[in-house]
Amino acid sequence: MVEETVEFRSVRGFHDILPEEIAYWQRLESFSRRILEAHGFKELRLPVLEMASLFKRGIGEETDIVSKEMYLFSDPKGRELCLRPEATSQIVRAYIQNRMDLKEPISKLYLIGPMFRHERPQKGRYRQFHQIDVELIGDRGPISDAEILILLWRILQGLGMGDLVLTINSLGCEVCRPHFKSHLKEFLRDKREGLCPDCQRRSEKNPLRVFDCKEAQCKASLEGAPRIDESWCGDCTDHLRAILDLLSEAGIPYILDSRLMRGLDYYTRTAFEVKTKALGAQDAVAGGGRYDRLISTLGGPDRPSIGFAIGMERAIELLKLNEALRPEGPKVFIASLGFRARLFAFKLMMELRARELKTEMAYGESSLKSQMRQATRYRAEYVLIIGDEELEAGTVTLKEMNSGEQTQVKISDLIRRLIGPKTP
Ligand code: AMP
Repeated sequence: MVEETVEFRSVRGFHDILPEEIAYWQRLESFSRRILEAHGFKELRLPVLEMASLFKRGIGEETDIVSKEMYLFSDPKGRELCLRPEATSQIVRAYIQNRMDLKEPISKLYLIGPMFRHERPQKGRYRQFHQIDVELIGDRGPISDAEILILLWRILQGLGMGDLVLTINSLGCEVCRPHFKSHLKEFLRDKREGLCPDCQRRSEKNPLRVFDCKEAQCKASLEGAPRIDESWCGDCTDHLRAILDLLSEAGIPYILDSRLMRGLDYYTRTAFEVKTKALGAQDAVAGGGRYDRLISTLGGPDRPSIGFAIGMERAIELLKLNEALRPEGPKVFIASLGFRARLFAFKLMMELRARELKTEMAYGESSLKSQMRQATRYRAEYVLIIGDEELEAGTVTLKEMNSGEQTQVKISDLIRRLIGPKTP
């Protein structure tokens, strides 16, 4: 009987990140961590699985994420779980559960990891994607908005991503947003016929969400809609003005756009997005906003907060446009000829590795020429050549690959030569 061969492939929208790309991921992560830590943010790591109700309550039932995009399933006990579609609600869950509010008045947290949304996959849009999520919990004032925005800008600019546009808006507060909502509702009542079925429902239940709809007919229906800046109360206007002044002083350019709505229910006041012209249709690299009511909505204390998320796949596409990063080659490649020399090479390799010197040698037996080719492919900085003769003489040949310079080095001097004098 011939066994049928099955071709296993990753799930649509889920991607393998391979070693040749990893230098970009490591650069993005290590640079971001450095900047975040310098600004007083601490990392936390949370599960990818959560109760689905957390996001329904946090993000809102009428949002695209909750109504269409969550990976939902039941566990063996019949509880409704999901793969996290975003991090803010989850960080807030952890903040409340772990009583972080009792430990410190302000919590500055970040999380790096995968998010899951069942969207239509395309370039720059995946079903599993990664975010660097940053939250400043516990302050109401515009200084924290400015801190968050300057921090985001520093990370993206510091990585050399030029040509970014920061767009900012205020979504109002519990005082002024209801006015805007009722104006919008009234406006949409006349446009009902032209809206898609989802938006017909949203226009009554949660009219702000009509702004997120990607249907052309709904976009057209919104022409001439009331603008949120016409409804801002004095406090919201002052809050935004203070942020914009601080941004200007920090030399950060921005665009005010009263149509920026951000697709999630929990935002209050500040909402923002960073876009690029370099990536085509999926042009948002980062986004975020203030969420003064989310923590109390999810059962925690009254802690106004603000945060952002950087989309890592998109940030990496931008990095790739700017610099060619490759995984680092080994410091040393050991080429050996003959059985005794191979055994010696193996022991030397393990010793160098124990001293954290990245070292490789050929696995099978092969000619010197082929080992030298391998060293070049690895992009090794040095090659050590060891044959039986060298072993007799207690020396090895050390070749610096860049200059091609070759020297004879005593085996007893080798480690000092490669590592340099030991620093205490
Ligand atoms: P959001 O949580 O929707 O505000 O998204 C924040 C950032 O995550 C966006 O600006 C994108 O860079 C990135 N992002 C969101 N959804 C996706 C996705 N499906 N695929 C890749 N990146 C995404």
